[in-house]
Amino acid sequence: MVATSKFERMLRGAVLRVTRPRVAVLTAVHAHPHADTLSILGAVRRELPDVSHQAVYDVLRALTAAGLVRRIEPAGSAARYESRVGDNHHHVVCRSCGAIADVDCAVGETPCLTASDNQGFSIDEAEVIYWGVCPGCVAVPATS
Ligand SMILES: [Zn+2]
Ligand SMILES: [Zn+2]
Repeated sequence: MVATSKFERMLRGAVLRVTRPRVAVLTAVHAHPHADTLSILGAVRRELPDVSHQAVYDVLRALTAAGLVRRIEPAGSAARYESRVGDNHHHVVCRSCGAIADVDCAVGETPCLTASDNQGFSIDEAEVIYWGVCPGCVAVPATS
């Protein structure tokens, strides 16, 4: 299968042993951007019904450490994972339903925001989360 061999190549490129759970998790993260651990677990279990929560968690940690997936953790939300790595993009999060969308970097190079005072640090990244309300939630006023 073409898709599988692509993910196998990514694992080998990151010097990670190719295992079925790793390929399945990588496939799930690519298919469901910004999914949380439980959603990824659900997707992986459709292919590998016996995989444990801990196994998926461990694979996500290994893939994140290897730079194959990126972990984002908006305040008040479970950690989310995505396959779009290395481009320093940002995220906009819906305060109402928690939907997440990608926002391209304002400048295009990391760090895209210049700190007003770097406090003597060498800064290489600015992680920005924009908060707001998604189109779906704007259209349907909350019934409270
Ligand atoms: Zn929303
Ligand atoms: Zn993203």
